[in-house]
Amino acid sequence: MDFELNEEQKMMRDMARKFARERIAPLIEEDEKVHRFRPEIVREMGEMGFFGAVIDEAYGGTGAGYLASAVMTMEVAQVSASYGLPFNMQMMGPALTIQRWGSEEQKQRYIPKLVSGELLGCFAMTEPNTGSDVASMRTYATRTEGGWILNGQKTWISQAQWADVGLVFAYTDREKKHRGISCFLVDLKETRGVSTTAIETKFGLFCSPTGEIVFEDAFVPDTALLGELNQGFKVCMAMLDGTRISCASRAVGLGQACLEEAARYSKERIQFGQPISEFQMIQSDLVQMYVEHQAAYLLVCRAAVARDAGNLKNTAEISTAKYFAAEAAVHAANTAMKILGSYGFSTEYPVARFLRDAKSYQIVEGTSNIQKMVIARHLLEQV
Ligand SMILES: Cc1cc2nc3c(=O)[nH]c(=O)nc-3n(C[C@H](O)[C@H](O)[C@H](O)COP(=O)(O)OP(=O)(O)OC[C@H]3O[C@@H](n4cnc5c(N)ncnc54)[C@H](O)[C@@H]3O)c2cc1C
Repeated sequence: MDFELNEEQKMMRDMARKFARERIAPLIEEDEKVHRFRPEIVREMGEMGFFGAVIDEAYGGTGAGYLASAVMTMEVAQVSASYGLPFNMQMMGPALTIQRWGSEEQKQRYIPKLVSGELLGCFAMTEPNTGSDVASMRTYATRTEGGWILNGQKTWISQAQWADVGLVFAYTDREKKHRGISCFLVDLKETRGVSTTAIETKFGLFCSPTGEIVFEDAFVPDTALLGELNQGFKVCMAMLDGTRISCASRAVGLGQACLEEAARYSKERIQFGQPISEFQMIQSDLVQMYVEHQAAYLLVCRAAVARDAGNLKNTAEISTAKYFAAEAAVHAANTAMKILGSYGFSTEYPVARFLRDAKSYQIVEGTSNIQKMVIARHLLEQV
């Protein structure tokens, strides 16, 4: 398969690279120390069209496609894993899901502002007792005149405390198990009974806000229902296909950062009278990182190209890319830390941050075990 980028894709990749290096890179080390998120960066990314690649032009997108989005995400995540997240919080999560399932009114109201970064978005499945097993969620929407009353608690939600709008998954009919979940578009800042708090105990992704959302008798109107009643599980699984490609792209970007840092350092560090890059064991480590990085890149591109060709059923292909890219990123960060020795263990160099951030890829958008379950189901169906 040919992953040669066309002129538009190359232009978008180069634009993302320039922005990440010139706008984000100078801020990142200081912001990481104080855990600062800059919403203005997300807005600037939006204004430059970063969140429009899989969105139709009618709603402010560019329609450039999944591959264009993947290579842009890689460029941003190579500089900052944290600012790779908004590709999901703005586009692959809310905007694309509204485009696929929303009413015309919902599309007009939300998508252009999510794409431009004027509104910040989030999506919320996870709860204190609900992670991989989405259907075990407890958040519940009770029917009332003209709408629904939401009660429950979501946690580990990226951008929660900053988000204007969220896709909130809640039970509307518990009897039906996962077929009784619905998806609601909630104006988080304007809805009474909604409160958010930041999670301050994170291990990494320090420039990406993560928080809890509590719903206490929060009224949402009928117009907030996204897709049909009790279709939320389907909406959620379809959304995860998009967010997983983006997560895999972030992992590839971070893998590239690890490789470059480790290779550069190995040529500069002198031990036993020569650069450590001359030692075969160091070369072996670098080669392993390089090969895994290449493979991860190709798997992500394959999944993105299939989507661009109209295949929206390549879930297992996406899980394969997400699983492999996440594992490769963690391995790359681990190896980079090894190659940098004590300097790898220092906050003076970025590899400790790379390792912390890489670990998130094995958890978010479905853990590595969950991706394996998807892949296993697919491969066993083939025989
Ligand atoms: C930085 C960050 C950002 C996040 N952002 C969001 C967000 O924006 N929105 C959102 O809804 N959620 C978000 N999450 C939550 C994330 O999606 C969940 O953490 C993830 O789905 C895993 O759930 P869990 O942590 O509860 O782990 P659990 O589901 O409790 O899993 C614990 C362990 O058991 C394993 N396990 C579980 N079930 C099985 C099984 N059937 N077979 C084998 N192994 C299994 C898992 O692989 C894992 O190793 C975020 C998490 C993090 C860390």
